[in-house]
Amino acid sequence: MIRALILGGTADANLLADNVSRAGLDAIYSYGGRTRAPANQPLPTRVGGFGGASGLADYIRRERITHVIDATHPFAAEMSRNAVAACADSGTPLIVLERAPWARTSGDNWIEVADIASAVAALPEHRARVFLAIGRQHIAPFAARPQHAYTLRFVDPPEGPLPFDADVIVSRGPFTLEDELEMMQSRGIEWIVARNSGGDGARAKIDAARTLGLPVIMLARPQLPDGPRAESVTEVMQWLGHPACLGA
Ligand code: NAP
Repeated sequence: MIRALILGGTADANLLADNVSRAGLDAIYSYGGRTRAPANQPLPTRVGGFGGASGLADYIRRERITHVIDATHPFAAEMSRNAVAACADSGTPLIVLERAPWARTSGDNWIEVADIASAVAALPEHRARVFLAIGRQHIAPFAARPQHAYTLRFVDPPEGPLPFDADVIVSRGPFTLEDELEMMQSRGIEWIVARNSGGDGARAKIDAARTLGLPVIMLARPQLPDGPRAESVTEVMQWLGHPACLGA
């Protein structure tokens, strides 16, 4: 009998939850708790951290989880490392659902960097309008380059003061190419800082940057431990021994 744990918070995790539910599998969907009103799921849902790798291993044992699917965002590295350790500790099969990273195509003007500090250093000296598409927990280091005018986009309004003055957009994606072109042109965006998330859901901003000829400082993904990986929901369903029934 399968009892799966989906580590979620992404569009792919939501699509997987739909498939798992339609297949009639027993499963729990886990949110990290960063967004105030996460999307409803067709599966039982839990919210918030487990208490590190040992807390997750305890949870897996207590809930008699048989399979773990790490469908978190590719930059949610702490959760992914904890999943590897907890599954090794509890002897539970784990698969990572992760779309391939975006590849540079003709017309892209990317500056690829390994970390946030390098992204800050890659910004120009002269004042520029910069769209920081990187998640609120990573913006603070950009205070070191106060000459720039930053645009930020969050799912929820900021709860406390930001580390610098910024133009804040509160909106939940996914965004179309037209949405992104309109946003960048109306604000006069000149530079973009983005993470190489891969997949279609977040790609429109990269396509818009190419269309407008804007430079993108592209953060590479964090390195994660080796292990089974799937690039589609269909592959995860196969791993669970069931065909996918919804577009994956
Ligand atoms: P992170 O830095 O890797 O995780 C920090 C801690 O948050 C983890 O150690 C864990 O706490 C808890 N956590 C994270 N994801 C969880 C989940 N799905 N279920 C239960 N606990 C979770 O992660 P993050 O970058 O803050 O991302 C948090 C959530 O937002 C993830 O679910 C991710 O898929 C989603 N998300 C992130 C991004 C992004 O850009 N990073 C983008 C879109 C969606 P404990 O150690 O206490 O277990």
